[in-house]
Amino acid sequence: MKILSPLEKIELEIFQHYGVDVYVKRDDLIDPIISGNKWRKLKFNVLNAKKLGYQGILSFGGAYSNHIHALAFAGKQAELKTIGIIRGEPHYQNNTTLTDAKRWGMELVFVDRQTYRQRHDEHYLTQLQRQYPDYFIVPEGGSNPLALPGVGEIIKELNQQNTFHHLLVPVGSGGTLAGLIQADNNRHNILGIAVLKQADYLQAEIKQLLANSADNKQQYRNWQLLTQFHGGGYGKFSQQAAEQIWQFNQQTGILFEPIYSGKMLLAFLSLLTQGYFKRGEKVVLIHTGGLQGIKGLIEQKRLPVNPWQLPFERQAH
Ligand SMILES: *Cc1c(COP(=O)(O)O)cnc(C)c1O
Repeated sequence: MKILSPLEKIELEIFQHYGVDVYVKRDDLIDPIISGNKWRKLKFNVLNAKKLGYQGILSFGGAYSNHIHALAFAGKQAELKTIGIIRGEPHYQNNTTLTDAKRWGMELVFVDRQTYRQRHDEHYLTQLQRQYPDYFIVPEGGSNPLALPGVGEIIKELNQQNTFHHLLVPVGSGGTLAGLIQADNNRHNILGIAVLKQADYLQAEIKQLLANSADNKQQYRNWQLLTQFHGGGYGKFSQQAAEQIWQFNQQTGILFEPIYSGKMLLAFLSLLTQGYFKRGEKVVLIHTGGLQGIKGLIEQKRLPVNPWQLPFERQAH
């Protein structure tokens, strides 16, 4: 498993036209299947669970969750047991994501939506901890204070790889963005692209994560959460958006999926054509991985097998 992910320049006519240099931080290459940023967020959670003598890690997710998928694999690698509290019906256990998770040894516990909604509730968490005393509990998406230093390593790598002005990243729960903000410490302009609707509440979540982190002395100013690029809401995308992402995949040879990194990409292109970036500036797009989700989208018939399946299967092994 690669640790330092490559920084790759992409050359397209449109970038030349606007005089902007564009790079992709290829966290999707940390592993072809395990989601890049979930892996980063789990690193210090795994080390912590080991250090504190827990037997395993328990966490939460939907039936196609990148986080659950990555946790199952990380647990197997670190010889920690894993439990996934999964929203939905047991029949989901045969989908592509959860089949992998089971194969890597994760125990799946299916709960109804009402129970799943309590996943941040203190009483529910205390009860779970009592039920599973040997498990370190990590929140949905892996976004806790321990996630931040792992994500911060992206900034350390980038600083060795090149100079840049702007950094773009897709945002779901905000843990990845918070880790970047903290490690960057006001040196670059960081833009988080929210992939869900009405995401303004995430501002407070991100500030809270930064405040709860061990290294909280700083005032962080050089970041913004852009909430207008959700494209219909979490997990939603138009056929036109999917086609546009596919076209870009073909032009660059880099595979983006339409739930996270693809939305960031479309947001970037929109900002570019609006003249947001100055001539001569360098922009880094963080490819957060999530490619395992493509198989799920094909399985749910939300993406056509052709052309999406072929390159993914080719890249998978
Ligand atoms: C979870 C995820 C994100 C969002 O990360 P957060 O830390 O939850 O904001 C982005 N990209 C991919 C591929 C993800 O799986």
